[in-house]
Amino acid sequence: MKIESVELKRVSIPLKKPFKTALRRVDTAENIIVVMTADDGTRGYGEAPPTAAITGDTNETITSAIKEFIAPAITGLDIENLDEVMYRLQRSVEGNTSPKAACDMAVYDLWSKHYGQPLYKLLGGYRKDLETDLTISINEPEEMRRDALAAIGQGFHALKLKVGIDSDLDIERVRTIREAAGPDIKLRLDANQGWTPEEAIRTIRRFEDLGLDIEFVEQPVKARDFAGLKKVHDNVSSRIMADESMFSPADAIELLHMEAVDLINIKLMKCAGIHNALKIVGIAETYGVECMLGCMIESKVSLTAAAHLAAAKKNITRVDLDAAILLAEDPVKGGFKKEIPHFFVTDAPGLGITGIEGLMEL
Ligand SMILES: [Mg+2]
Repeated sequence: MKIESVELKRVSIPLKKPFKTALRRVDTAENIIVVMTADDGTRGYGEAPPTAAITGDTNETITSAIKEFIAPAITGLDIENLDEVMYRLQRSVEGNTSPKAACDMAVYDLWSKHYGQPLYKLLGGYRKDLETDLTISINEPEEMRRDALAAIGQGFHALKLKVGIDSDLDIERVRTIREAAGPDIKLRLDANQGWTPEEAIRTIRRFEDLGLDIEFVEQPVKARDFAGLKKVHDNVSSRIMADESMFSPADAIELLHMEAVDLINIKLMKCAGIHNALKIVGIAETYGVECMLGCMIESKVSLTAAAHLAAAKKNITRVDLDAAILLAEDPVKGGFKKEIPHFFVTDAPGLGITGIEGLMEL
């Protein structure tokens, strides 16, 4: 089976409610869809969202990177030689992690369809059932409390609270939600780089003193401040997770060798796809560190690829694939099955995606 063409389309899907973090706000997912066709007519699907604030990728750069560099580098290659395809894909252009991820997952979709197996089985086949948390956007404490209670009412057992804008207010946000949620709900915090190291240490210690029982704190400080991350890690007892600090396998080695974090958050859009994500999972496992699989504001196309990866690997112990629930519509046919708060990968070949409604020309 040879890769014959790489076509690009776009989707536009409104969110139920604006997604707000210390870094950005999103109202509508305006994402690029990759439709990769093999010489026997089989189709593989991929997706990249424009997450300029984190990856630097916009829809314009995603489109041009695929058209000018990635597609020409892999067109005509035999899917059975997966390592050659991935070698060329990853070296086709510097950076551009989201367009690489979109093409990487379309290749994996074709590859697993070629062998007639669901992707998760070919990658390791550890489980089929994933439980996701739900993100609560950063807002006034009272609004966040209402959103948290609504999420618990829907059946979620873990909430990821966005913090990192004004640490006094952050204390109030978390305190109010812990009070309303009771002791059995897991609370994860994500500061999205919003604190300085000193502010992070002070704030996290206050969470600890108040007994707010935080499962972990994600990305307290600036992405490239590895020393700051280590300082926070060394001065609090809560577990610290790297997100924006950890893009590549090399970042994972550096952070884990420094003992700067306790957990890492892998996102396909940061690490340029499944090929590199597998390396990161292996590095983390070697260091005895567990991974979470997270996402950007993505539709069920790339979320299904992420779900197959998470299902495949024992060392991916948490998933934060809630974009599927934040979106108001689901135009994707097939893919994972959703039963809040669980996602199940299916045994259909590849990603199991059979079509996408409302695809628009670029
Ligand atoms: Mg994060």
